Amino acid sequence: MSPLPFTNLPLGAGMLANLTTLGYLEMTAIQEKSLPYVLKGRDLIAQAKTGSGKTAVFGIGLLHTLDPGGFGVQGLVLCPTRELADQVAHELRRLARRESNIKVLTLTGGVPLRPQAASLEHGAHIVVGTPGRIRDHLNRGTLKLDHVRTLVLDEADRMTDLGFYDEIVGIVRACPPQRQTLLFSATYPNDIRQATANFLHDPAEVTVEAQH
Ligand code: ADP
Ligand code: MG
Repeated sequence: MSPLPFTNLPLGAGMLANLTTLGYLEMTAIQEKSLPYVLKGRDLIAQAKTGSGKTAVFGIGLLHTLDPGGFGVQGLVLCPTRELADQVAHELRRLARRESNIKVLTLTGGVPLRPQAASLEHGAHIVVGTPGRIRDHLNRGTLKLDHVRTLVLDEADRMTDLGFYDEIVGIVRACPPQRQTLLFSATYPNDIRQATANFLHDPAEVTVEAQH
């Protein structure tokens, strides 16, 4: 089957034009299988190897659901490491390039909390961070998640390997129950499946097997 163009999706003209500018013309396999569910508001478990374009699945989904004039943090992305959080934030800013008023804030460890808290006070539509640092801000009351519409667990297998499970449970509980939850992983073994089942509501499950 030949890949479908992004114009097959119910996306706004601005997003379609931006994807063209980025050189994203055809969807990757995981994008083609996942995005119809994501854009309908379904929860999702998506499994595909590294480099298959998973960031744009949740990036396009986050931006689709976001209200630029709305209040509070509307999108939260959890990543296992600072480097990955920086990469994800970079990709989200590229995808949001046409909407200059959308603010993406990175919250990761290894730097002081106070400047991050000051940035949060100025407002952010989307926060990308590591579980430990997100939990620190929640505990200090510098971050509120009660307006989150979309929660993303990126590289869920690695986050669980790194022992972030307890932090993730606390963060998920701080988000509204009626949010959309999207989980991405390169592998999805049974222990992670069981550990994360409570986070998702009737998720669509999409897998793209590695091509040999
Ligand atoms: P993953 O999270 O699955 O490891 P990424 O989201 O990091 O993969 O994407 C890998 C690379 O593919 C990135 O450089 C990204 O810019 C590029 N990419 C994603 N989707 C498309 C697309 N539809 N067309 C062309 N390039 C794409
Ligand atoms: Mg990724």
